[in-house]
Amino acid sequence: MNFVKENGRTIPVADKVFALSGRAQAAIAKKGKDAVINATVGALLDDNGDLVVMSSVVDAIKTLSPTDYAAYAPITGTPAFKEAVQKALFGKYEPSGHISVCVTPGGTGSITSVVANYSNVGDEVLTHDWCWANYRNICSQQGRKLRTFRFFDEDGAFDAADLEKELNALAKVQDQVVLMINTPAHNPTGYSLSLNDWGKLIAIVNDAPCKVVLFLDIAYIDYAGEEDEVRAFIPMLAGLGDNVLPIFGYSASKTLTAYGMRCGAIVCMAKTEEDAEEFRRASEYAARSTWSNCNRSAMTVMGKIYSDPELQAKVDEERRVYRDMLLERGRIFEQTLNENGVKCVPFSAGFFVTIACDDPAAVGQKLEEQDIFCLALAKGIRVSIASISKEKCVKCAEAIAKLLK
Ligand code: PLP
Repeated sequence: MNFVKENGRTIPVADKVFALSGRAQAAIAKKGKDAVINATVGALLDDNGDLVVMSSVVDAIKTLSPTDYAAYAPITGTPAFKEAVQKALFGKYEPSGHISVCVTPGGTGSITSVVANYSNVGDEVLTHDWCWANYRNICSQQGRKLRTFRFFDEDGAFDAADLEKELNALAKVQDQVVLMINTPAHNPTGYSLSLNDWGKLIAIVNDAPCKVVLFLDIAYIDYAGEEDEVRAFIPMLAGLGDNVLPIFGYSASKTLTAYGMRCGAIVCMAKTEEDAEEFRRASEYAARSTWSNCNRSAMTVMGKIYSDPELQAKVDEERRVYRDMLLERGRIFEQTLNENGVKCVPFSAGFFVTIACDDPAAVGQKLEEQDIFCLALAKGIRVSIASISKEKCVKCAEAIAKLLK
């Protein structure tokens, strides 16, 4: 009967990642986990294929009282949570301007909120061509379109010229553009903007003939490298012009390996108190009219961790071990590819590595025939190194290189 109204969306029969992951699970059930490489999962697994759960976070969860999960939370979040997010996000750096925080259900909620509040229905939202596929869905769900600039030029460098071209073209038809940049440890490539890239990006948005809402999706920041180094771009944001509003999308899913607790935040760094207050008002309204308030217990856990230096040190230390495990997998994967004569899309760290290729669907199919499950994107194959051991990284990289040569 077709009761559903598509409203410009293309609603698939099944979510591609979950369907692929289902086939990988079925292969594991039949052949055993050693015989299968399931590099589809966007969550951190240990070398045994078990979900990483941080014991220090679990200890904090165990101290929750019944009202911590039974009571409603304030729509924009509890005061302790808002403080915790600023500590988690900015680290040792002092942000400039007026900060306003609103809790969201995961980093996903922050993207939904920025699209709802800072673009018009029918607008185009700009991001890099390699991007998390859900960006497109979040835009179309709200009657917006996603437009892309080329992330890397022929030499594999950040393509600032194409960003400038696309931004200026969009400025001819929109007085304001939401520009979404996912860094550091970008999904799906693992690229982190260098400070030099940041300099170029800031100059471009400052010179744009329109207002720019610069949305920084930092979901993977805590897996990108040494804590201070990966946040070194933050002081540079003080150089943004009056036409630019920087807004961060933060994900506690990754930072605390607590994906199911659905906790994240949208954080505005406004030049004026008026813009910060406008952000608060709009974020509160968008939240109330979509998910309403968020998971209070997750907020309380964040508040407990970041107000207790000893507990925070424990969580940071535990995460560092997993972060280093992930960084090592990335190095080994890239090295194996290179030794076999294949290059990946510029990678520095994170959950994923991507290899550009012709006909990714066919390559994905051939890998699947060897019980190697990777996501076929429009322009390449995405490998979740977060979910496979070092040994499987080597095998997977070798198999991909063999197919591509
Ligand atoms: N941003 C990017 C680039 C992601 O890959 C993800 C999750 O995969 C998110 C944001 C949001 O994650 P969550 O909603 O689980 O915090």
